[in-house]
Amino acid sequence: MTAAPPTDGVLVDRYGRVARDLRVSLTDKCNLRCTYCMPAEGLPWLAGPQLLTDDEIVRLVRLAVRHLGVTEVRFTGGEPLIRPGLVGIVAAVAALEPRPRISLTTNGLGLDRLAPALRAAGLDRVNVSLDTLDAARFARLTRRDRLADVLAGLAGAVAAGLSPVKINTVLMRGVNDDEAPALLRFALAHGYELRFIEQMPLDAQHGWDRSTMVTAAEILAALRTGFDLSPDPARRGAAPAETWLVDGGPALVGVIGSVTRPFCGDCDRTRLTADGQVRACLFATEESDLRGALRAGADDEELARRWRTAMWGKRAGHGIDDPAFLQPARPMSAIGG
Ligand code: SAM
Ligand code: SF4
Repeated sequence: MTAAPPTDGVLVDRYGRVARDLRVSLTDKCNLRCTYCMPAEGLPWLAGPQLLTDDEIVRLVRLAVRHLGVTEVRFTGGEPLIRPGLVGIVAAVAALEPRPRISLTTNGLGLDRLAPALRAAGLDRVNVSLDTLDAARFARLTRRDRLADVLAGLAGAVAAGLSPVKINTVLMRGVNDDEAPALLRFALAHGYELRFIEQMPLDAQHGWDRSTMVTAAEILAALRTGFDLSPDPARRGAAPAETWLVDGGPALVGVIGSVTRPFCGDCDRTRLTADGQVRACLFATEESDLRGALRAGADDEELARRWRTAMWGKRAGHGIDDPAFLQPARPMSAIGG
């Protein structure tokens, strides 16, 4: 391994990890207010001119796919479904050669209406966030009374042919940590693939507390009260979820132990924020400004050089368990989860 970033080829870091999976945040805004993500009043949103335009996003994704070895593109936010140009962006990315796999992480509001157009544009897969099946709890947790819309969104995704349809769930102690088996039963009944994500210190209010966080071990123990779980023999690779066969399979459940079982050593992600900053990690404290360079007239070679340099500096791990850990200045909703 050389001591300087490579001048061509893929996005490799000094530890030899190669980033193939690009997460693109399309907006920092959202129509829910999940308590583990943002405060009730929302956040100071990025102003219009700060956001990458649709064309700028497609240009940077094209660069990543053609010249930097990216093979997976996931659109997220904030809430990506509220970005007006979403369908067009998906279509433009699906037309790239080589065609990347395209996925979306969404809260599901409006997905029932948009899923057919997204599928037709080239979207392959979708992850819908759902933390509870109880309408009153949902309203408390997201501060909006929209459970029925999320359930309609999930059904709409299946009807449109998106596959697999995954559910992302964050459990919080004393809020919804009694629902793990019920959520799995629901997912199995509808053919959704459920994945639990440990709550991370990425909320704007800095309310995360390691001592009360529901751990992967606790999630697995709760699931085992209702189901037999055996390790999925398929290789995990760079996927963050540890997957388990439910009652012998083929159904699966995943647990993403970002905090207690970090997968940083296998991480293959690179991130682009809605205002055009490259981040090597959710927890990075540095960003590299591609928007400024792009608007100053940088050519693809220069943009690729900046992106490679940003990824070269990726740290070995997120260090959440390190006493010196500092939560990044931007919350999850502004980075792109
Ligand atoms: N709005 C979309 C959604 O909710 O799916 C996309 C953005 S959201 C930031 C992406 C994912 O991050 C969601 O599954 C959400 O539950 C998760 N998330 C948000 N804040 C989190 C936190 N503090 N710890 C762990 N996961 C979090
Ligand atoms: Fe919005 Fe997603 Fe954050 Fe919930 S987790 S407030 S849906 S961005």
